[in-house]
Amino acid sequence: LARKRFGQHFLTDAGLIDDIVRAIDPKPGQPVVEIGPGLGALTLPLRERCPAFTVIELDRDLAARLRKQEGLSVIESDVLKVDFSALAGELGGKLRVVGNLPYNISTPILFHLLEHVQHVEDQHFMLQKEVVDRMAAGPGSKTYGRLSVMLQWRYDIESLLDVPPESFDPPPQVDSAVVRMIPLPQPATLDLPRFGAMVQAAFSQRRKLLRHALGRWLDEQGFEGTFDMQRRAEEVPVAEFVALAQSLPPR
Ligand code: SAM
Repeated sequence: LARKRFGQHFLTDAGLIDDIVRAIDPKPGQPVVEIGPGLGALTLPLRERCPAFTVIELDRDLAARLRKQEGLSVIESDVLKVDFSALAGELGGKLRVVGNLPYNISTPILFHLLEHVQHVEDQHFMLQKEVVDRMAAGPGSKTYGRLSVMLQWRYDIESLLDVPPESFDPPPQVDSAVVRMIPLPQPATLDLPRFGAMVQAAFSQRRKLLRHALGRWLDEQGFEGTFDMQRRAEEVPVAEFVALAQSLPPR
């Protein structure tokens, strides 16, 4: 039944589903949006607490099944094409976004939501554990990298629970984890594409000193400030990447 190309691994562990629902703790009237509801393993228990509910499902057959649930709003679409800002406008408030995500596109989904983050209240996702580790890693850790910096400048990130493959049918080949992401109340103002390009350049050669990995890129941006470039990107805290991006000359 499960379609591999859609990353379909359905949750079957009732105790775990209960833990996830309690971690999300949805309240009646909140605009909850679930990505990839599948057969509804999370949808049904979440809706017991919050009946008005929106789901985004790409699989036509699954979307047709979901439409039979009364009062459920089903968006049959690729989540990467959904305008979450417009959706927040329609639903009348900041979104609580949840989902057991298709792992093959989890990073694109995270970056897509980052572009709409001002319309997000919080996010709770099941992801590959390895991805959650990278999202939550701090400087000096082996897994600290582009994903850590790009998400942590804008969200508070917390890994909530580890989940083994046996909790799904069919079981994925990797361990999973549930992560909570809460947008920071006072985020830095940044030119996001430029920040992204800088962080990518810095980590593209993570073993090199910033002087080498980033020097030419900063020159091209007209940067003249002082910044300790005798470090590797993996040692530089998120706040310093933000400060460096903010000290670039306007373009
Ligand atoms: N939430 C269900 C559960 O926990 O049992 C299913 C989770 S399964 C890991 C991922 C779900 O995302 C599937 O239902 C799949 O059809 C759907 N999906 C895959 N790619 C998608 C996309 N680009 N946009 C929206 N949904 C997608």
